[in-house]
Amino acid sequence: MPRFVTVAVPCPLRRGFDYLWADSLGKEPAIGMRVSIPFGPRRLVGVIIATDSSNDIPSNKMKAVLRVLDEKPTLPLDLVQLGQWAADYYHHPVGDCIQQMLPVTLRKAEQAKEKPAQYWQCSQDIKQLPPLSARAHQQRSLLAVIQQSGQLSRRQIKDLGYSNNILNPLINGGYLSKANAPVADGSYMHVDKPVLNSEQDAAVTAISARLGHFDRFLLDGVTGSGKTEVYLRAIEYCLARGEQALVLIPEIGLTPQTLQRFEQRFPGCVSTLHSGLSDGERFQNWRKIESAEHQILLGTRSAVFTPFNNLGLIVVDEEHDASYKQQDGWRYSARDIAVKRGSDHNCPVVLGSATPSLDSLHNVAQNRYQLLELRERAGGASAPAIRLLDIRNESLDEGLSKSLLDATTRTIAAGNQALIFLNRRGFSPQLQCHSCGWLANCKACDAKMTVHFGRRELRCHHCDASDTLPTICPQCHHHQLIYQGPGTERLELSLKRHFPEVPVIRIDRDTTSAKGSMQSLVDDIRTGKPCILVGTQMLAKGHHFPDVTLVGIVDIDGGLFSADFRGPERSGQLLVQVAGRAGRADKLGTVYIQTHCPEHPALQALVNDGYQPFARQLLAERQLFSLPPISFSAVIRADATSLEGAEAFLERLRASLAPGDTSWSIVGPLPAPMTRKAGRFRAALILQAERRSVLHRQLHTACHIGDQLSKPQNLRWSVDVDPIDL
Ligand code: ADP
Ligand code: ZN
Ligand code: ZN
Repeated sequence: MPRFVTVAVPCPLRRGFDYLWADSLGKEPAIGMRVSIPFGPRRLVGVIIATDSSNDIPSNKMKAVLRVLDEKPTLPLDLVQLGQWAADYYHHPVGDCIQQMLPVTLRKAEQAKEKPAQYWQCSQDIKQLPPLSARAHQQRSLLAVIQQSGQLSRRQIKDLGYSNNILNPLINGGYLSKANAPVADGSYMHVDKPVLNSEQDAAVTAISARLGHFDRFLLDGVTGSGKTEVYLRAIEYCLARGEQALVLIPEIGLTPQTLQRFEQRFPGCVSTLHSGLSDGERFQNWRKIESAEHQILLGTRSAVFTPFNNLGLIVVDEEHDASYKQQDGWRYSARDIAVKRGSDHNCPVVLGSATPSLDSLHNVAQNRYQLLELRERAGGASAPAIRLLDIRNESLDEGLSKSLLDATTRTIAAGNQALIFLNRRGFSPQLQCHSCGWLANCKACDAKMTVHFGRRELRCHHCDASDTLPTICPQCHHHQLIYQGPGTERLELSLKRHFPEVPVIRIDRDTTSAKGSMQSLVDDIRTGKPCILVGTQMLAKGHHFPDVTLVGIVDIDGGLFSADFRGPERSGQLLVQVAGRAGRADKLGTVYIQTHCPEHPALQALVNDGYQPFARQLLAERQLFSLPPISFSAVIRADATSLEGAEAFLERLRASLAPGDTSWSIVGPLPAPMTRKAGRFRAALILQAERRSVLHRQLHTACHIGDQLSKPQNLRWSVDVDPIDL
C-alpha cells in the first residue's frame, strides 16, 4: 500500500497537498516535519500536516516527497494545529500561515550553521588595570551593567543600547574576559524587588491563583502604575512551577530599560525576538525557548508562534497597540492568537494597557475577561492635568499657538523638559504654488507629497516615491511656493528659533532610522537637562521621560473626525499615551491640546473624565450602531490597475453570495479611503454579522467563489478578519 502525507506548501492555494511517502526516505513521517517537495517546476519546503492521508489518485500520478529535512518535527503538534486553526479563522492559505510561523532560517532547505553566542564578563584582574577615564562614561556604564548581570552576550549588550565602539575597547583593554553562557539557577528569587502596593498585590494574587488554568485578565493601569512589576511577579510564580512565560510587546516597545529590567530580575532566563535581530540570532533564540534553555521570551508580534517546552503564562503588554495586527498578507492579530494559545496550553493570559482596546473592555463587560485595575501611579506620582487650547481664530506661529509657546518658555525657565507631539513627520505635508495653485501630488497615489526640507526632497509617505524639492513652480514658473501646515521637521526649526539656548531633540522615523540613534537621543533626554522634545507617535511608546513636565499636542483633530469609526478610539489612546510620558512623583505634568473643536464630546470626556469614561462612551456608541466589537466584521479588499477592475471583481463576488439578511450584512464595493496607492486602485467589501459563526460561513463561501471567479491577471484580493481599519 502506498503511503501519503499531506503537506502545507507555501503557495496561495487554500489547502494542503498530498505527496507519496517512499520507503526509501528511511523514516517514519510525523506531523510538523519539514520536507522538500516538487511543486510545479520548483522545489519548495513544506511542513507535514497529516500522515496516512487517504487518496484516490493512482500513485504513479502522484508526486513524491524528495527529502526529509528534520530528524524530529520542527513544529510541535500544538503549533501545526494552531496554524490550521488560524488558516480557517483568517481564511488564509494554510501553507503561508505555517511558513510564517517558522523562523526564516527554517524556511529554506539548506540551513545555516548555528554559531554559539560569545558571552563576556568583567575580567578578574580588572583591579590591576588603569581605571577608565572619567570621560568614558558610556564604557563605565556598560562595565557596571555587565558587573550587575554577571555575563552578557554581544547581542544582549547591543540590545541594551551599547554599540561595538563602546564594547570593543573594553575587550581590547582587557577589562572583559570570555565567559560561559549563564545558567539559570533560580537566583531571581533573591533579587531586590519593590514591595507591591495593594492593587498590584491583588492583581498578582489573582493571576497566580489561576496558573495551570486558562483564564483571561485585563490589567488596566496608567503608565507608571506598576504593570510591568505585576508581570514580573506573576512570571516569578510561573517559573517557580517549572513553566515558561511569553511576553509580547509592541513593535517599538522593547526599550533597553525594559530588557534590562527582565534580565536583572531573571538572569540567564530571557530570550528576545524582534526585528532588530538577524535571522541567525532569531533562530538561536527560538531554539532556546523550544529546548527550555531559557524560560522567558520577550518578543514582538511573530513571537506568538514560538514553540514552548512548557508554556505557563502569556502577557501581552500594551494590548491596544496596532502593531499586534499584521497589516499585509496573513492579517492575524498576535493579541488574539495569544489568547487562543492560552486556551491551548491551559494557562492564564494577561492583557495589559493604560488605554485598553474597546475589544478588551467589551470582553470585560461580558464577563469573559477579569478586570484588574491599578489606579495609582507606583511611587505616588499624580496624573497630569489636561487643558484644551482653543486655537480657533488664533494666529499660529508655524503651527504653534502663543499659549503653547508661553507654557514652553515657563517650563524651560523652571529647569524642566517639554515634549511637543505631532503625528506627522517631514517639514510640511503639502507644497503649493501661491500664484497658480499647483499642488505637489504623488504621481502614484491619491496623496500629497511631503516636503523634507533638510534633504531638499519631496517624498510620498504612502509609496515612498521621491523627487527633488522644486524651487520654482513646475506649472507657472513662479517662485512663490508655500508650505502648507507643519510637520515635526518644521516644528523643530521653529522651536530652535524660539529657544536657541536649549537643545531641541526631534524623534521620528527620519532621525532614528540609523541603528542606535534612538538610544543615544533617549540617553540625552534622560540626563534630565532642560530640553524640548519634538516627535511623532514614536514618542508615545515604551519610553518614559521623567523630567518632562509639559506635553503639547499640536493637532489631533484629524483622527477624531476620521471617516473610520475606529478613529476616535485610536486618537484617544494615542493622546493618553503621549500625555502619560509626562511627570513623576515630585514633578507634576501638564498637557496642552491645541484644537479647533474644543466642544467635541469625545474630547471633552477624555479631558474631563479620563480614558475609561471616554472609552465607555465610545463603546455605547458602537452598541447603538451594532459596530464591532459588539458585532463582527471582515473586509474583502481588491486592487487592480484600474478602479473598475477592482470594483467589477468585488461586484461579481457580492452578486454570487446570498443577499444579506438580518443576521449579516454586506456593504460595497466601496473605493478605499485612499483609492489609488502605489499606482494601484483599491476597493473593498465590508461584511458584518452579529454572530461570528455567520460571518465565517459567509467568508468561507466568498473565498470559495473568489478563488473560482476568473480575474484579470493583475488583480489581487485578500480577506481581513477583525480589521483595524478600512
Ligand atoms: P508600568 O509598567 O505600568 O508603566 P512599572 O512597573 O514600570 O509601571 O512601574 C513604574 C515605576 O515604578 C518603575 O520604576 C518601577 O520600578 C516602580 N514601581 C513599580 N511598582 C512599585 C512598588 N510597588 N513600589 C515602588 N516602586 C514601584
Ligand atoms: Zn504655479
Ligand atoms: Zn505615493
